Amino acid sequence: MGLRNTSRNTMKNTLKCDLHVHTSYSFDSNTTMEQYARRAVELGLDAVCFTDHIDINNHRNTFSGFPFDERRRELERVQKQFAGQIKLLLGFEMGEPHLHPRETVFLRSLHPDLIIGSVHDAPPLDGIFDRRAYERAYDRLVRQMVLDGDFDILGHVDVLRKWHDDYVEDFDYVRGTLKLCVQRGIVPEVNTSSMRSSGVPPMPDLDAVEYYVRCGGRYVTVNSDAHTLNQLDEFSRVREMLPGGVELCCFVAGKLCTSL
Ligand SMILES: [Zn+2]
Ligand SMILES: [Zn+2]
Repeated sequence: MGLRNTSRNTMKNTLKCDLHVHTSYSFDSNTTMEQYARRAVELGLDAVCFTDHIDINNHRNTFSGFPFDERRRELERVQKQFAGQIKLLLGFEMGEPHLHPRETVFLRSLHPDLIIGSVHDAPPLDGIFDRRAYERAYDRLVRQMVLDGDFDILGHVDVLRKWHDDYVEDFDYVRGTLKLCVQRGIVPEVNTSSMRSSGVPPMPDLDAVEYYVRCGGRYVTVNSDAHTLNQLDEFSRVREMLPGGVELCCFVAGKLCTSL
């Protein structure tokens, strides 16, 4: 399970993007867009998308007071600085977009290149202290988000793999959620941050990606979920390990593309 590559990927898959990156506009990062841009050019990336946290839950509200205009101006400044060297994209990582439709409509009105939908801390999970019960409630919330949410990329579908050292995955359920992504036209990311923090396979693992492909899924992105400079595009080797039949993609102005 996990990182083995059973069938060779025949797609070209030469697109080098990291579409899940947190900057100093996220509560949990101090790295600037300019620092990431410089590093991305060194790494030879085609594109980086800045996806700062928009979370509205009982623990925090980063939507209210978020400096949307200032962040866009800063991105435009850095885009100019690195013009012709790298594509820098505007995105958000929205926590539970299906529970916050008005705020999600507002984010769309800003015409971001993409929105990642992720489940972080949502009221339905508050007060569940039993690990297994929490994990299943988490899975159900992700499923509901895929069914009802307006977003482009499904963030870290089984992130509890990273957060709980005794995590017991319901493989069938997670795979069922990936199958629903195919029907809803949502692209799952392969989030590699679990590999650095707990040395476990990416989220989802590559067997699950293979299942997604068997269900007709065509596109994925491989993202680092970087919060610091050295994490940018970490574990990029996962791109070469993807199962056959799947293609790397990017989003520009909300439209999926396979070249830039
Ligand atoms: Zn997240
Ligand atoms: Zn993130």
